[in-house]
Amino acid sequence: MNRRMGRRLVWAVLAGAAADLAGLGLIAAAAWLITRAAEQPPLAALSVAIVATRAFATSRGVFRYAERLTGHDVALRAQADARERLYASLIAPRRPGHGGADLLSRMVDDTEAVQDLLVRCLLPAAAAAIAGLAAVVVGLTLLPVTALVLGAGLVVAGVLVPAGTATAARRWSARIAPARAELASRVADLVHGSADLAAYGAGDRALADALAADARLATLERRQSRVHAAALATGTLVQGLTVAAIVLIAQNAGVGTVATAVLALTALVSFEPVLPLAAAGERLAGVLAALRRLRDVQATPPAIDEPAAATPAPPSPLTVEIDDLVVRHASANGSGTAHTGRPAVDGVSLTLTPGRRLALVGPSGAGKSTLLAALMRLVEPESGNIRINGVDIRSMASDDVRTLMTGLTQDPYIFQTTLRDNLRLAGPEAGEEALLRAVRDARLEQWVERTGWDAELGEDGSTVSGGQLQRLALARALLYDPPVLLLDEPAEALDEETADRLMTDLLDVTHDRTTLLVTHRLKGLEQVDEIIVLEEGRVVQRGHHDELVGRPGYYRDLWESEALTRR
Ligand code: ADP
Repeated sequence: MNRRMGRRLVWAVLAGAAADLAGLGLIAAAAWLITRAAEQPPLAALSVAIVATRAFATSRGVFRYAERLTGHDVALRAQADARERLYASLIAPRRPGHGGADLLSRMVDDTEAVQDLLVRCLLPAAAAAIAGLAAVVVGLTLLPVTALVLGAGLVVAGVLVPAGTATAARRWSARIAPARAELASRVADLVHGSADLAAYGAGDRALADALAADARLATLERRQSRVHAAALATGTLVQGLTVAAIVLIAQNAGVGTVATAVLALTALVSFEPVLPLAAAGERLAGVLAALRRLRDVQATPPAIDEPAAATPAPPSPLTVEIDDLVVRHASANGSGTAHTGRPAVDGVSLTLTPGRRLALVGPSGAGKSTLLAALMRLVEPESGNIRINGVDIRSMASDDVRTLMTGLTQDPYIFQTTLRDNLRLAGPEAGEEALLRAVRDARLEQWVERTGWDAELGEDGSTVSGGQLQRLALARALLYDPPVLLLDEPAEALDEETADRLMTDLLDVTHDRTTLLVTHRLKGLEQVDEIIVLEEGRVVQRGHHDELVGRPGYYRDLWESEALTRR
């Protein structure tokens, strides 16, 4: 939080306290006015109190309005700040361990905690403390012993009860969260597995399990609400007892009706800002947990180290040299990150010169995607290096590296927006002609004509078939037009015929482009300049298609099995 926000926060606290003090003043002045008026003095003796009552009544509303305005202003700014910081820390590639849905909820719910911390916890507590203190001072001036009683009552209602609700909330959420998760998973089983449950006659059992989970959750929640209600009741009880005690003490001390009324009513009203602190305490437990989660995300070290002073990206044409590269994945475990045994890429060397196409093949888990990730500067190599025109990519800003080497990723994502905007992701400035060319090169022209440029595509790409999705992703990559085009398994998960057509078109359009193609299909690879076969992170074969099919090994085996299925 910067100084400007700190100042606004102070203003919000002051406005809140002023509103509470005006409330206090209103009651004190009104109490004095009513009781004094009952003694029927001349009107002139009441005029100051009358004006004061009016002034307090009006200013209370104004101060409350100012408090809400400045308080929410600070809180919303702080929340936006927290979101920005979280977002900045997410843009850098992170080590594994934070899934997408989990992060989304952090972005939305946990950053809201920042707002609640200010508006619901800190501001009311600070304002209540100031108002409570003022009421105690009123007591001190009229009858000091009542100040002692009031102070004690306020501490119980404003400190002890909220501390209790905060502790209880923490304990209860630790018990309720798993019960709620269990119910959610039972219900999900019922919904998604309904066909299997019906087929094996297990529906009744699954339903009974879900109902039992529901009953457990309901019991816990009922008990939690009892504790919550008891805490609120305690506050009100303390308020009542304090006021009663003050009235008794004042009467016994013989300070007169007017002073007694002022003391009693001031005490009564001073609890008003204090009683909601019980609920604030409850919220505080959740807020602190959310802030801890946010800190955890931001504390996760980035997967790669950015250079302090980045070397500028070299100009095209580009030669990419990979030299004895070793990449080992860090895997998430409970207490941080640990290295898995075998490197995913284990001493790979290759050179990609301008205009050449290189294919990377090998069984699943061979390290092909990891190699692309290292090229795109998404993972940090353990040793060896990657150079572009002689410049080590570690000395360049990772964003710059990705403007030079990028392309079609695995599982391309379709955004829930128009077809045009889905493409423009790769070229916000792209004109109609460039869009059209990319679409034509990806052989997507007819589909686009049928669908329309402004057609909304579904969140999960539901209106887009697998083949179209890959072509759309290809069109995006072509529109971006990186000097080195990376293509990760473009034909993955497509049926034979669609995959064949896509690969043919893709090999066509990448002609003369510097391209690294990861693929598990060999058809058409006679067109590429070099094929590298990876197994367990190592290069086991390399050469042209004709050479590789002539030698025994993974490539020939795969080629023969592909030929068999084609027959
Ligand atoms: P391919 O693309 O050839 O199928 P990958 O590069 O995806 O192979 O995987 C190579 C090895 O690295 C595999 O053993 C895989 O389990 C492991 N691996 C891949 N990604 C990660 C990751 N994010 N964390 C830990 N291990 C990973």
